[in-house]
Amino acid sequence: MPATARTGLSTDEAAARLRRDGANVLPEPPRKRGWTLVAEVLREPMLLLLVAAAAIYMLLGDPREASLLLASVLLVIGLTLYQEYKSERALQALRDLSSPRARVLRDGAATVVPAREVVVGDVLLVGEGDRIPADARVLEGADLHVDESLLTGESVAVARAAGGVGDDQLLHASTLVVRGRGSAEVVATGAATAVGRIGDTLASIDVERTPLQREMRRTVALFATLGIATCVAMVLLYRWLRGGWLDAVLAGITLAMSNIPEEFPVVLTVFLALGAWRMARHNVLVRHAPAIEALGSITVLCTDKTGTLTENRMAVAELDGHDTGELIAMARLACPPLSHDPMDRAVVEAAAGTGLAPEPEGWQRLREYPLSSRLPAHVEVWRSDDGQLRVAAKGAPETILALCGLPEDERAALLARVEAMTQRGLRVLGAGAGNLPAAMGSALPDDVAAFQLQWLGLIGFADPLRPAVPEAVADARAAGVRVLMMTGDHAGTARAIATQAGIAIGAGVVGGTDVEGWDEATLARQIESASVFARVRPEHKLRLVQALKRRGEIVAMTGDGVNDAPALVASHVGIAMGGRGTDVAREAASIVLLDDNFVSVVRAIRLGRGIYENIAKAVRYILAVHVPITGLALLPLLVGTPPVLLPLHVVFLELIIDPACSIVLEREPPPADIMRRPPRAPGRRLLDRWTMLGALGQGAVMFATVALTFAIALRTGLPHAQLSALAFVAIVAGNLFLILLHRSGDSLWQALRTPNPAFWTVTIVASAVLALAVLHPAVASLFGFAPPPTALLVWAIGLPLAAVVVLDTWQRLRARRRAG
Ligand code: ADP
Ligand code: MG
Repeated sequence: MPATARTGLSTDEAAARLRRDGANVLPEPPRKRGWTLVAEVLREPMLLLLVAAAAIYMLLGDPREASLLLASVLLVIGLTLYQEYKSERALQALRDLSSPRARVLRDGAATVVPAREVVVGDVLLVGEGDRIPADARVLEGADLHVDESLLTGESVAVARAAGGVGDDQLLHASTLVVRGRGSAEVVATGAATAVGRIGDTLASIDVERTPLQREMRRTVALFATLGIATCVAMVLLYRWLRGGWLDAVLAGITLAMSNIPEEFPVVLTVFLALGAWRMARHNVLVRHAPAIEALGSITVLCTDKTGTLTENRMAVAELDGHDTGELIAMARLACPPLSHDPMDRAVVEAAAGTGLAPEPEGWQRLREYPLSSRLPAHVEVWRSDDGQLRVAAKGAPETILALCGLPEDERAALLARVEAMTQRGLRVLGAGAGNLPAAMGSALPDDVAAFQLQWLGLIGFADPLRPAVPEAVADARAAGVRVLMMTGDHAGTARAIATQAGIAIGAGVVGGTDVEGWDEATLARQIESASVFARVRPEHKLRLVQALKRRGEIVAMTGDGVNDAPALVASHVGIAMGGRGTDVAREAASIVLLDDNFVSVVRAIRLGRGIYENIAKAVRYILAVHVPITGLALLPLLVGTPPVLLPLHVVFLELIIDPACSIVLEREPPPADIMRRPPRAPGRRLLDRWTMLGALGQGAVMFATVALTFAIALRTGLPHAQLSALAFVAIVAGNLFLILLHRSGDSLWQALRTPNPAFWTVTIVASAVLALAVLHPAVASLFGFAPPPTALLVWAIGLPLAAVVVLDTWQRLRARRRAG
């Protein structure tokens, strides 16, 4: 072994090599650059329509109107770029967070670094479930097996060990450790690796379509067809009633500008990207966008215990054996070298407290039998300084007892002590040790069952519950989400922790072997009442998830191990642990918890529900707001006055609508009762018939107020410029009131008091520009307006205001009737 095998590189040396060789990544495809973005924006239908309208004004001999329109193109581009920039920045932040990590030795200590910082000569520490970050040569390994199917297409795991010939000692970048552990020295990084696909798997946040996006596509198609049909009808009607093709087309374009349903997809993209980014700030990393929506419909949440409900900061709390000195001394020999496992660390620490080094001077590790889901124990074989062979084992008490072959009565007595310790919430390990004949050194058995061990005693670990867990469990229950615990730990510990966390134990703690033995019918019956499952292995988790799904539940599940991947994939929302979880689990999950904390899961449910709620608000607002615009475009034609809405006016309206739906409503806090509602029914559409009719109805009421204003002005015999100004004031006021109506809160009054600076910015800027456009004679003439009489202005604002108060009261009454 080279000298660096124990200490790794120094931090300085690693930094120097990183500068020399470059980062451990492959050349990435070029990012979207500024100009391509602008080019994309310029293809937006809204802008094309604006340019077309400007061209028609030129043809009509009105260059002033044309240049005004072209100037507004800049505003629209600016706003679109701002939206794109915000979503892109959010996604980039997510990519940085989700980039792969690697465990290396630096300055003699195991450290986690971003995989891109791994350099040639680094000593990698790899274990079950890790993706290998670079090409490396094995220095030492225990039962190390890798899946190289990515490279070779061969799915059978291959063994890798130190000192082998050729490829037998090489680990390849981006292959997967499926069993065992080991250390290896990096020989090539980045583009120099055999297959440089690093970063490809984990760093990509995919942008698959969510059910909402698919629904939205149908909605967009529907409204696009409707919009185009109205425009064509408008052009023909105009031509027929008034004559003049150019004017007719201009009227059509005006309507098209407001009616192209481009806001729907924008809302989804922006809300989902910003939502994912918001979640990341709460330690929830979303890898698959559909998970954001699915979070709101979860009915069952399956959680593991250690590290998720508890802190995973183990400390040895009790030793129970004839010779506790010997017990802890041998237990520390049953730990793998440089282990990160909290229990191993606790044991080594407790041994250090009695003056023992992690490894005795002159002793040599011959073989280790690592912890696995089949064998919940860790066994090490040593050659002592005087040449004797010693076996040290620690693990689940039942497993160690089985290796010790004690008489039945002693076994039963010991299990009773285990039971008593677990009832105090302790996590309990048993330890055993034995001697081997020296001849066995060259031919150690593959199965630990061949060893005859002496029972040494029990070690109790305290692993306190995370403080906020009981509250989070209660929150989940209030939100109609059942919490199930599935742990690999002992039933007694599971029961104690479940009780502390407030998880209803129901009929009792169910063991993994029971789950295995039950037929489908029994399983389906049991799962209705049982909520705590102990000594479960990954395949049991998969069976439980499938049984829950058959009952029609929407299942979220947490997992961290290699073998958890199938259950994570099978669940509707797979949640992996960012800190303690394996790369395999992270890749299988749609959500990664950066802090491994159960409380974050419940917070994710709240955020997910809030995001969905805001999308629903924005979509209803968009539907409602277009009704008065379409109405006002058609009305003058039908009553025989010149058109009131010109392209410039529609641009003005769109400049309120866009930020309103993508910024104002995105920032709305979730309603106070969001976690006291039952989960959303999974098949429920965002825009079912009643929701759609309701929103269109609100729009119709608003249009009525605009039409009434128009009628009053017409009766008064105002000149057209004043009449247009009044109708425009009414429609802008109605628009602002609709935003308010769709903001959260139980009432308008509450919505006004809920802070949302973006709402006030939009309202104040829009009101100021409107005031200028209507009252300032010079600006008014740009819009084709003239200042109207004040008394009528009061009507133009008062009517929409009255309408919104009526709509709000009606909504509140209906909500109360539904609740009562
Ligand atoms: P959990 O679901 O609570 O995370 P695990 O699946 O991680 O439980 O562990 C299952 C069992 O494996 C533990 O109850 C313990 O008996 C055994 N075990 C876990 N870690 C170790 C270790 N480092 N050494 C020996 N045994 C262990
Ligand atoms: Mg675990």
